Amino acid sequence: MRKVRVRFAPSPTGPLHIGGVRTALYNYLFAKKHNGTFILRIEDTDQARLVPGAESYIIDSLNWCGLHPEEGPGQGGPFGPYRQSERKSIYIQHVNLLLEKGFAYYAFDTIEELDKMRGGEHDHTKYDATTRMAMRNSLVIGSEEAKKLVEEGVSYVVRLLVPEDQKVTFTDRIRGEVTFDTKELDDKVILKADGLPTYHLANVVDDYCMKITHVIRGEEWLSSTAHHVLLYNAFGWQEIMPEFAHLPLILKPNGKGKLSKRDGQKFGFPVFPLPWHDEDPDESFEGFKSVGFHPAALLNFMAFLGWSPGTEQEIFSWMN
Ligand code: GLU
Repeated sequence: MRKVRVRFAPSPTGPLHIGGVRTALYNYLFAKKHNGTFILRIEDTDQARLVPGAESYIIDSLNWCGLHPEEGPGQGGPFGPYRQSERKSIYIQHVNLLLEKGFAYYAFDTIEELDKMRGGEHDHTKYDATTRMAMRNSLVIGSEEAKKLVEEGVSYVVRLLVPEDQKVTFTDRIRGEVTFDTKELDDKVILKADGLPTYHLANVVDDYCMKITHVIRGEEWLSSTAHHVLLYNAFGWQEIMPEFAHLPLILKPNGKGKLSKRDGQKFGFPVFPLPWHDEDPDESFEGFKSVGFHPAALLNFMAFLGWSPGTEQEIFSWMN
């Protein structure tokens, strides 16, 4: 059996939500239980959404909670760098591999062309098998012509060529067998016009390169997993694809929707571990620390959101 390696992979797009703390906790506990390694990876390829201070907030929060990664941007480790913005050349190599094997293609469509293809607000037309041959991409113009455009500096993205009419099935440790029809999936952009990969490509390449054995993350990523499985297949990595576990989200007290940052003020409890200060007072929040909670109490409570020891024991002293 492979040594268990799990990662917490937040995007520094704002302060770490309490749901993220629970994801980190479950990864950490799973690693400890299996004598494995808990890794922190910063997923910062969406440069437009980066928020200054968010990365250090995440690291400080994990430290306050005692969820210390063994590998990460601060600690280093054998599979670094652990910040995706520093791994650009690794992604480019992998995108080129997919292009060579015919699992991906160049697309030169302008925003106007994409809008036209998608139709109006209620039109669900996607960039997929039904539309791709009417667009401006290397499948239509041919790879020689596409290479010429790339060399001339014409702006492009690289898209994943989603196979037509297939079922994508994977086992989720929480949901059981999950199946998607490729008809539901669009040809996702895997390399953006700025030369950085999208979340999907970077996430799969890194999980492979960092020898991740189990992906434990929020349920909002369940539907993305279909594209991830297609990427594992395209790279020929299906034999060592990690196991997936998608955690149900933490909901509002009334159970209607995901607990949001505004709910803290509304219901009178924090939704962030540490306080978060922003120039805009509406974007500044208390944290569990600043209102006086001990991290062990917070984590003890969080551990019970989605798990039970099956006994009457309610207090666990797991911090080391
Ligand atoms: N970067 C993603 C996030 O911000 C993580 C998804 C994953 O763990 O695969 O939640």
